[in-house]
Amino acid sequence: MLDANLKNQLKAYLEKVTQPFEIAASLDDGAKSQELLGLLQDIASLSDKITLTTDGQDARTPSFAINRPGEETGVVFAGIPMGHEFTSLVLALLQVGGHPPKTSQETLDQIKALDGEMRFETYYSLSCQNCPDVVQALNLMAIFNPNVQHVAIDGALFQDEVEAREIMSVPSVYLNGKPFDQGRMTIEQILAKVDTGAAERDAKKLSEKAAFDSLIIGGGPAGASAAIYSARKGINTGVAAERFGGQVSDTLGIENFISVSHTEGPKLVAALEQHVNDYEVDVMNLQRATGFKAAETEGGLHEVTFESGATLKSKTLILATGARWREMNVPGEQEYRNKGVAYCPHCDGPLFKG
Ligand SMILES: Cc1cc2nc3c(=O)[nH]c(=O)nc-3n(C[C@H](O)[C@H](O)[C@H](O)COP(=O)(O)OP(=O)(O)OC[C@H]3O[C@@H](n4cnc5c(N)ncnc54)[C@H](O)[C@@H]3O)c2cc1C
Repeated sequence: MLDANLKNQLKAYLEKVTQPFEIAASLDDGAKSQELLGLLQDIASLSDKITLTTDGQDARTPSFAINRPGEETGVVFAGIPMGHEFTSLVLALLQVGGHPPKTSQETLDQIKALDGEMRFETYYSLSCQNCPDVVQALNLMAIFNPNVQHVAIDGALFQDEVEAREIMSVPSVYLNGKPFDQGRMTIEQILAKVDTGAAERDAKKLSEKAAFDSLIIGGGPAGASAAIYSARKGINTGVAAERFGGQVSDTLGIENFISVSHTEGPKLVAALEQHVNDYEVDVMNLQRATGFKAAETEGGLHEVTFESGATLKSKTLILATGARWREMNVPGEQEYRNKGVAYCPHCDGPLFKG
């Protein structure tokens, strides 16, 4: 199933595994089950810390769970996670195997503190570049909190479910059997949605901040540039963004950034974030501004209000809120968003195979 080159690479990764774990496959007589079995046998042959069993009882076939000994970790893949999801598979193997994720301690603590049973299901397609972030975030939550389970489902292989749930775009996430969200999401966005207390805590912290000299609303390339320029001049700078990175986060290949012949959106966003963090910039992510009141006197403070109820004050305000998907304002557009009104043909296409 895996070619020699991929096997060598995976073997090197699996050397980072510190704790033994089991892959429990649920298979039937079909060709896809045989294909999955071949993949799992290849993986198990690359590390003596991995045991493969084929007596899984999951109703979805083919599927497999990755479990620590004596413990259902809660990470399940239904389908064969190759394509864009191969990285999600490798990360799940490493993280269940004890290799630490590159996630801040603050985020891990927030995951561990989540209360209540959460059963997530994510429908993805193998050609969807926005899906792995969501799959990886929810897998991480399952690995670090025993109350969280996550099944990542290849919509092209489980078309009956896709039709029954009327799913027309990926990633589509369900929580405890009900629609949760659609589209690309970071782990911070998912946590902000399930940890409602966090929004209140954040709003209080934000409102208590001293006034900025320069406050930038928007964290795309424009907002990040404005922040770096301001902070380099010693100006007390803050950036508040609904989603740091902006549209670039949704772009896979970028080939027109002069002096960089090819990069990928998520890589560019990571570099933007690193560059902004090189300076004393107060980055306030996941904050949607809803309005502002201009200063009443020259030299006075402008005030920005946020959806969370928080307010921030600043001598100067820079609006770098970029662009979002254009809407046609036709009847049904909102109701059928992601149920036929779609924005990414190559992500959602596999759901309509045949
Ligand atoms: C799929 C795709 C592919 C692309 N490919 C390329 C390419 O290959 N090359 C290229 O040069 N360009 C490309 N672009 C365009 C490029 O991404 C944009 O030109 C660029 O991101 C604009 O940067 P910006 O900072 O002005 O705005 P944006 O990237 O739109 O960022 C806006 C920021 O403002 C925030 N924001 C918006 N409203 C609020 C609010 N009310 N409160 C708080 N924050 C808010 C957003 O969350 C975000 O952080 C592509 C765009 C897309 C969508």
